[in-house]
Amino acid sequence: MFMHSLFPFNNMGCCKCSPERIRQFKEKSYMDGYCFHPFYRVYDLFSLRVQKREKIKINQTEQKINHKNLLLYMGRSIISAVFPYKCPACGSFFKPDNHAAINSLNNTVTRNSILSAPAQLSFKLLMDRFLCPSCSQDFLAVESPVCSKCGIMFKSREVDDHICGECFDFPKYYGKARSSGLYERALMEVIHALKYRGRIELARPLGLLLFSTFMSHWDPQGIDLILPVPLHITRFRKRGFNQAFLLIRKWPAIAKKLGFMLSDRQISRDALVRNRNTGQQTGLDRTSRKKNMKNAFSLNRPELINGKRILLVDDVYTTGATVDECARILLHGGAKNVDVLTLAHTMRS
Ligand SMILES: [Zn+2]
Ligand SMILES: [Zn+2]
Repeated sequence: MFMHSLFPFNNMGCCKCSPERIRQFKEKSYMDGYCFHPFYRVYDLFSLRVQKREKIKINQTEQKINHKNLLLYMGRSIISAVFPYKCPACGSFFKPDNHAAINSLNNTVTRNSILSAPAQLSFKLLMDRFLCPSCSQDFLAVESPVCSKCGIMFKSREVDDHICGECFDFPKYYGKARSSGLYERALMEVIHALKYRGRIELARPLGLLLFSTFMSHWDPQGIDLILPVPLHITRFRKRGFNQAFLLIRKWPAIAKKLGFMLSDRQISRDALVRNRNTGQQTGLDRTSRKKNMKNAFSLNRPELINGKRILLVDDVYTTGATVDECARILLHGGAKNVDVLTLAHTMRS
């Protein structure tokens, strides 16, 4: 009451303070919204000083980053001169372009580069540091015409997108599946290097490639939850990581850089679990794969799934038996819809 009488104000603001200033002041929790000008002025002066200090800090950080780049460049040059880099795709030794590598690492994640560059170019930009010049160009992007359901690329280039015979004869539970590239050549080799030889440094550029595919086929606002296809606990322990999770782990940071929200909570690696070690599916036909996958998954956190629009992420789409079984379980658990995104897609023989 005392403050009221000494400094007349109301919720709409006093003679000099706009409601916006009152709101800002309230948000800062200063004096519970009490408004009097000298305090504002002191506060403004203080915040100006803070802003100035922050600007200086930002400039210093930028300079530090440039110095860091120089040191990184020098370090990499020495290391690559002594230990030539081995291409994980073809095994040949090569000298990476350190300038390009550092620049591409710092500049790849921009709205323009990620959204406008064709997948072929994205792969080259992202993998320049990791692959030899020949392998970094040896990538086949999945491009239309594709099956509008499973996303398989049609051999004939003169048709529009349509449902393929397989999806027509055996309807899928998931909504649509899309992939970045064909499971051939360099992409197949780098996926093998990541999965079987533990080259986890490849997960970052491959995750970026996958993110650019996600952005070209989905509106991020239309996805509530992103789930990696889980590994069975014994395989997880043997491998030490789930490659599907490694691919999406950095997505919230990338999204933040591009200016939209994707929180860590939107990625759940334990909502879905694999109950059985289904073993390698290579060599099994479509029916055997489906049978092998039946009830291989279950929901660990059903409350997380209910009513959600889900994106399932995996490294390779072969027959789709794995992701379709996951989609079936998720839909049964109350998910609104399930879409699928994979890094690579096999061609049907
Ligand atoms: Zn190579
Ligand atoms: Zn299809």
